[in-house]
Amino acid sequence: MAAIDTLPPLRDVIATHDLSARKALGQNFLLDLNLTAKIARQAGDLTGMDVLEIGPGPGGLTRGLLAEGARKVLAVEKDARCLSALAEIAAAYPGRLEVIEGDALAINPLDSLTPPIAICANLPYNVGTELLVRWLTPPTWPPVWDTLTLMFQKEVAERIVAQPGAKAYGRLAVLAQWRCTAQIVLHLPPEAFTPPPKVSSAVVHLRALPTPKYDADPKVLERVVAAGFNQRRKMLRASLKSVAPNIEDHLTAVGIAPTERAERVSVEAFCALARSVASAT
Ligand code: SAM
Repeated sequence: MAAIDTLPPLRDVIATHDLSARKALGQNFLLDLNLTAKIARQAGDLTGMDVLEIGPGPGGLTRGLLAEGARKVLAVEKDARCLSALAEIAAAYPGRLEVIEGDALAINPLDSLTPPIAICANLPYNVGTELLVRWLTPPTWPPVWDTLTLMFQKEVAERIVAQPGAKAYGRLAVLAQWRCTAQIVLHLPPEAFTPPPKVSSAVVHLRALPTPKYDADPKVLERVVAAGFNQRRKMLRASLKSVAPNIEDHLTAVGIAPTERAERVSVEAFCALARSVASAT
Protein backbone atom coordinates (compact mmCIF):
# COMPACT_ATOMS: atom_id res chain seq x y z
CA MET A 1 0.00 0.00 0.00
CA ALA A 2 1.26 3.55 -0.79
CA ALA A 3 2.61 5.66 2.08
CA ILE A 4 -0.03 8.05 3.46
CA ASP A 5 2.48 10.91 3.63
CA THR A 6 6.19 11.68 3.23
CA LEU A 7 6.91 11.91 6.95
CA PRO A 8 9.19 9.31 8.59
CA PRO A 9 7.84 5.93 9.83
CA LEU A 10 6.48 6.15 13.39
CA ARG A 11 9.21 3.90 14.83
CA ASP A 12 11.77 6.46 13.62
CA VAL A 13 9.67 9.33 15.05
CA ILE A 14 9.60 7.60 18.44
CA ALA A 15 13.37 7.02 18.37
CA THR A 16 14.20 10.56 17.17
CA HIS A 17 12.01 12.26 19.79
CA ASP A 18 12.73 9.73 22.54
CA LEU A 19 9.07 8.87 23.11
CA SER A 20 9.37 5.76 25.26
CA ALA A 21 5.80 4.88 26.31
CA ARG A 22 4.67 5.94 29.78
CA LYS A 23 2.08 3.74 31.47
CA ALA A 24 0.76 6.53 33.70
CA LEU A 25 -0.33 8.43 30.57
CA GLY A 26 -2.03 5.38 29.05
CA GLN A 27 0.52 5.37 26.24
CA ASN A 28 -0.07 2.43 23.92
CA PHE A 29 0.87 3.74 20.50
CA LEU A 30 -0.40 2.70 17.08
CA LEU A 31 2.61 2.57 14.76
CA ASP A 32 1.00 1.10 11.62
CA LEU A 33 -0.04 4.04 9.45
CA ASN A 34 -2.32 1.83 7.35
CA LEU A 35 -4.19 0.99 10.53
CA THR A 36 -4.41 4.61 11.71
CA ALA A 37 -5.73 5.60 8.25
CA LYS A 38 -8.29 2.81 8.53
CA ILE A 39 -9.43 4.14 11.92
CA ALA A 40 -9.65 7.66 10.48
CA ARG A 41 -11.86 6.30 7.67
CA GLN A 42 -14.30 4.92 10.25
CA ALA A 43 -15.10 8.55 11.10
CA GLY A 44 -16.70 8.92 7.65
CA ASP A 45 -15.93 11.56 5.05
CA LEU A 46 -13.76 14.15 6.85
CA THR A 47 -13.49 16.53 3.92
CA GLY A 48 -14.68 19.91 5.10
CA MET A 49 -14.79 18.85 8.76
CA ASP A 50 -12.88 20.05 11.80
CA VAL A 51 -11.60 17.17 13.92
CA LEU A 52 -10.82 17.13 17.62
CA GLU A 53 -8.26 14.50 18.57
CA ILE A 54 -7.40 13.75 22.20
CA GLY A 55 -3.97 12.28 22.91
CA PRO A 56 -2.20 12.33 19.51
CA GLY A 57 1.06 10.97 21.02
CA PRO A 58 3.59 10.53 18.19
CA GLY A 59 0.81 11.37 15.70
CA GLY A 60 -0.11 8.14 13.89
CA LEU A 61 -3.86 8.78 13.98
CA THR A 62 -3.28 12.52 13.44
CA ARG A 63 -1.53 11.70 10.16
CA GLY A 64 -4.40 9.40 9.21
CA LEU A 65 -6.97 12.13 9.88
CA LEU A 66 -5.03 14.71 7.85
CA ALA A 67 -4.38 12.29 4.98
CA GLU A 68 -8.11 11.46 4.95
CA GLY A 69 -8.84 15.12 4.21
CA ALA A 70 -9.82 16.72 7.53
CA ARG A 71 -10.11 20.50 7.05
CA LYS A 72 -8.35 21.03 10.38
CA VAL A 73 -7.24 18.83 13.27
CA LEU A 74 -7.07 20.23 16.78
CA ALA A 75 -5.07 17.84 18.94
CA VAL A 76 -4.84 17.98 22.74
CA GLU A 77 -1.81 16.21 24.21
CA LYS A 78 -0.76 16.10 27.87
CA ASP A 79 2.78 14.84 27.26
CA ALA A 80 5.06 17.73 26.27
CA ARG A 81 7.62 15.24 24.89
CA CYS A 82 5.29 14.66 21.89
CA LEU A 83 5.15 18.30 20.81
CA SER A 84 8.27 18.31 18.62
CA ALA A 85 7.07 15.21 16.73
CA LEU A 86 3.66 16.83 16.23
CA ALA A 87 5.30 20.06 15.02
CA GLU A 88 6.83 18.09 12.13
CA ILE A 89 3.34 16.91 11.11
CA ALA A 90 2.01 20.48 11.36
CA ALA A 91 4.81 21.61 9.03
CA ALA A 92 3.90 18.89 6.50
CA TYR A 93 0.22 19.97 6.52
CA PRO A 94 0.48 23.79 6.65
CA GLY A 95 -2.40 25.48 8.50
CA ARG A 96 -4.26 22.23 9.15
CA LEU A 97 -2.91 20.97 12.49
CA GLU A 98 -3.09 22.86 15.77
CA VAL A 99 -1.72 21.24 18.91
CA ILE A 100 -2.66 22.25 22.44
CA GLU A 101 -0.50 20.98 25.27
CA GLY A 102 -2.82 20.21 28.16
CA ASP A 103 -5.13 17.86 30.02
CA ALA A 104 -8.26 17.07 27.98
CA LEU A 105 -10.22 16.85 31.23
CA ALA A 106 -9.32 20.42 32.15
CA ILE A 107 -10.01 22.22 28.86
CA ASN A 108 -12.89 22.27 26.40
CA PRO A 109 -11.43 23.03 22.97
CA LEU A 110 -14.67 22.24 21.10
CA ASP A 111 -15.68 25.93 21.23
CA SER A 112 -12.72 26.90 19.06
CA LEU A 113 -13.73 24.57 16.20
CA THR A 114 -16.13 25.29 13.34
CA PRO A 115 -18.94 22.81 12.61
CA PRO A 116 -19.25 20.27 11.14
CA ILE A 117 -17.07 18.65 13.81
CA ALA A 118 -15.89 15.07 14.25
CA ILE A 119 -14.15 13.80 17.38
CA CYS A 120 -11.71 10.97 16.74
CA ALA A 121 -9.23 9.53 19.22
CA ASN A 122 -7.30 6.55 20.46
CA LEU A 123 -8.15 7.56 24.00
CA PRO A 124 -5.99 7.10 27.05
CA TYR A 125 -7.89 4.38 28.95
CA ASN A 126 -7.89 6.25 32.25
CA VAL A 127 -9.88 9.22 30.92
CA GLY A 128 -11.85 7.68 28.03
CA THR A 129 -15.16 7.00 29.79
CA GLU A 130 -15.15 10.38 31.54
CA LEU A 131 -14.65 12.22 28.23
CA LEU A 132 -17.34 10.16 26.50
CA VAL A 133 -19.89 10.94 29.23
CA ARG A 134 -19.07 14.66 28.93
CA TRP A 135 -19.52 14.60 25.15
CA LEU A 136 -22.81 12.72 25.54
CA THR A 137 -24.23 15.14 28.10
CA PRO A 138 -23.83 18.69 26.72
CA PRO A 139 -26.12 21.44 28.05
CA THR A 140 -28.20 21.34 24.87
CA TRP A 141 -28.92 18.78 22.14
CA PRO A 142 -27.90 18.36 19.33
CA PRO A 143 -24.28 18.75 20.46
CA VAL A 144 -21.69 20.79 18.59
CA TRP A 145 -20.13 17.56 17.22
CA ASP A 146 -21.62 15.27 14.56
CA THR A 147 -19.71 12.04 15.21
CA LEU A 148 -17.46 10.37 17.79
CA THR A 149 -15.03 7.70 16.58
CA LEU A 150 -13.24 6.44 19.64
CA MET A 151 -10.95 3.61 20.65
CA PHE A 152 -11.76 1.97 23.99
CA GLN A 153 -10.80 -1.20 25.70
CA LYS A 154 -13.16 -3.86 24.35
CA GLU A 155 -15.21 -4.16 27.56
CA VAL A 156 -16.01 -0.42 27.53
CA ALA A 157 -16.91 -0.52 23.83
CA GLU A 158 -19.30 -3.39 24.57
CA ARG A 159 -20.93 -1.39 27.37
CA ILE A 160 -21.66 1.46 24.93
CA VAL A 161 -23.47 -0.69 22.36
CA ALA A 162 -25.03 -3.28 24.74
CA GLN A 163 -28.73 -4.15 24.48
CA PRO A 164 -31.16 -4.79 27.39
CA GLY A 165 -30.63 -8.19 28.96
CA ALA A 166 -26.89 -8.24 28.23
CA LYS A 167 -24.44 -8.19 31.14
CA ALA A 168 -22.73 -5.11 29.66
CA TYR A 169 -26.02 -3.12 29.45
CA GLY A 170 -25.98 -0.17 31.83
CA ARG A 171 -25.84 3.59 32.23
CA LEU A 172 -23.35 4.06 29.39
CA ALA A 173 -25.56 2.17 26.90
CA VAL A 174 -28.67 4.19 27.80
CA LEU A 175 -26.76 7.49 27.70
CA ALA A 176 -25.22 6.68 24.31
CA GLN A 177 -28.20 5.06 22.60
CA TRP A 178 -30.83 7.56 23.73
CA ARG A 179 -29.52 10.29 21.44
CA CYS A 180 -27.00 8.58 19.13
CA THR A 181 -26.58 5.63 16.86
CA ALA A 182 -23.71 3.57 18.27
CA GLN A 183 -21.81 0.66 16.80
CA ILE A 184 -18.48 -1.13 17.12
CA VAL A 185 -16.73 -0.70 13.77
CA LEU A 186 -13.31 -2.24 14.39
CA HIS A 187 -11.71 -4.75 16.78
CA LEU A 188 -7.99 -4.54 17.57
CA PRO A 189 -5.86 -7.16 19.32
CA PRO A 190 -3.28 -6.07 21.93
CA GLU A 191 -0.46 -6.65 19.39
CA ALA A 192 -1.71 -3.73 17.29
CA PHE A 193 -0.21 -1.40 19.93
CA THR A 194 3.29 -0.62 21.14
CA PRO A 195 3.64 -1.64 23.90
CA PRO A 196 0.72 -4.11 23.78
CA PRO A 197 -1.83 -3.50 26.55
CA LYS A 198 -3.23 -6.43 28.59
CA VAL A 199 -6.68 -6.09 27.00
CA SER A 200 -8.20 -6.07 23.51
CA SER A 201 -9.56 -2.82 22.06
CA ALA A 202 -12.40 -1.74 19.81
CA VAL A 203 -13.37 1.39 17.92
CA VAL A 204 -16.89 2.70 18.53
CA HIS A 205 -18.60 5.06 16.09
CA LEU A 206 -21.39 7.25 17.44
CA ARG A 207 -23.47 9.66 15.39
CA ALA A 208 -25.56 12.30 17.16
CA LEU A 209 -29.24 12.18 16.24
CA PRO A 210 -30.82 15.60 15.59
CA THR A 211 -33.36 14.88 18.35
CA PRO A 212 -33.40 12.19 21.04
CA LYS A 213 -35.05 8.89 20.09
CA TYR A 214 -37.60 9.33 22.91
CA ASP A 215 -38.71 12.41 24.79
CA ALA A 216 -37.30 12.79 28.33
CA ASP A 217 -35.78 15.42 30.60
CA PRO A 218 -32.03 14.63 30.53
CA LYS A 219 -31.52 15.30 34.26
CA VAL A 220 -34.47 13.13 35.35
CA LEU A 221 -33.49 10.35 32.96
CA GLU A 222 -29.91 10.46 34.22
CA ARG A 223 -31.16 10.24 37.86
CA VAL A 224 -33.45 7.29 37.14
CA VAL A 225 -30.81 5.40 35.16
CA ALA A 226 -28.01 6.08 37.66
CA ALA A 227 -30.16 4.91 40.60
CA GLY A 228 -31.36 1.84 38.68
CA PHE A 229 -27.90 0.66 37.72
CA ASN A 230 -26.17 1.64 40.97
CA GLN A 231 -27.88 -1.37 42.49
CA ARG A 232 -28.38 -3.39 39.34
CA ARG A 233 -29.16 -6.67 41.14
CA LYS A 234 -32.04 -5.08 43.05
CA MET A 235 -35.64 -4.83 41.86
CA LEU A 236 -36.51 -1.39 40.53
CA ARG A 237 -39.09 -0.74 43.27
CA ALA A 238 -36.15 -0.88 45.72
CA SER A 239 -33.31 0.64 43.68
CA LEU A 240 -35.46 3.62 42.55
CA LYS A 241 -36.96 4.40 45.98
CA SER A 242 -34.83 7.53 46.27
CA VAL A 243 -36.06 8.85 42.89
CA ALA A 244 -39.74 9.20 43.85
CA PRO A 245 -41.66 8.13 46.97
CA ASN A 246 -44.39 6.43 44.90
CA ILE A 247 -42.01 4.84 42.38
CA GLU A 248 -44.12 1.64 42.20
CA ASP A 249 -47.04 3.69 40.81
CA HIS A 250 -44.80 5.27 38.14
CA LEU A 251 -43.35 1.89 37.16
CA THR A 252 -46.80 0.35 36.83
CA ALA A 253 -48.16 3.38 34.95
CA VAL A 254 -45.53 2.98 32.21
CA GLY A 255 -45.81 -0.80 32.02
CA ILE A 256 -42.62 -1.79 33.89
CA ALA A 257 -43.06 -4.49 36.53
CA PRO A 258 -41.87 -3.09 39.90
CA THR A 259 -40.01 -6.39 40.39
CA GLU A 260 -38.01 -5.87 37.16
CA ARG A 261 -34.27 -5.13 37.24
CA ALA A 262 -32.65 -2.18 35.45
CA GLU A 263 -30.60 -4.39 33.15
CA ARG A 264 -33.79 -5.60 31.39
CA VAL A 265 -35.39 -2.15 30.86
CA SER A 266 -35.15 -0.67 27.36
CA VAL A 267 -34.06 2.90 26.64
CA GLU A 268 -37.63 3.63 25.53
CA ALA A 269 -39.05 2.35 28.84
CA PHE A 270 -36.49 4.33 30.89
CA CYS A 271 -37.57 7.47 29.01
CA ALA A 272 -41.26 6.74 29.69
CA LEU A 273 -40.44 6.32 33.38
CA ALA A 274 -38.46 9.58 33.43
CA ARG A 275 -41.45 11.39 31.85
CA SER A 276 -43.82 9.95 34.43
CA VAL A 277 -41.53 10.94 37.33
CA ALA A 278 -40.99 14.43 35.88
CA SER A 279 -44.72 15.02 35.40
CA ALA A 280 -45.32 14.42 39.11
CA THR A 281 -42.71 16.89 40.37
N1 SAM B 1 -3.05 8.65 19.38
C1 SAM B 1 -1.80 7.97 19.66
C2 SAM B 1 -1.77 6.65 18.94
O1 SAM B 1 -2.86 6.19 18.52
O2 SAM B 1 -0.70 6.06 18.82
C3 SAM B 1 -1.57 7.79 21.16
C4 SAM B 1 -2.66 7.06 21.90
S1 SAM B 1 -2.26 6.67 23.57
C5 SAM B 1 -3.42 5.35 23.87
C6 SAM B 1 -3.01 7.97 24.53
C7 SAM B 1 -2.41 9.35 24.38
O3 SAM B 1 -3.14 10.26 25.22
C8 SAM B 1 -0.96 9.49 24.83
O4 SAM B 1 -0.25 10.21 23.87
C9 SAM B 1 -1.01 10.26 26.16
O5 SAM B 1 0.14 11.04 26.42
C10 SAM B 1 -2.24 11.11 25.95
N2 SAM B 1 -2.96 11.50 27.20
C11 SAM B 1 -3.06 10.81 28.34
N3 SAM B 1 -3.84 11.47 29.23
C12 SAM B 1 -4.24 12.61 28.60
C13 SAM B 1 -5.06 13.71 28.98
N4 SAM B 1 -5.63 13.74 30.19
N5 SAM B 1 -5.25 14.72 28.10
C14 SAM B 1 -4.66 14.68 26.86
N6 SAM B 1 -3.88 13.66 26.46
C15 SAM B 1 -3.66 12.64 27.30
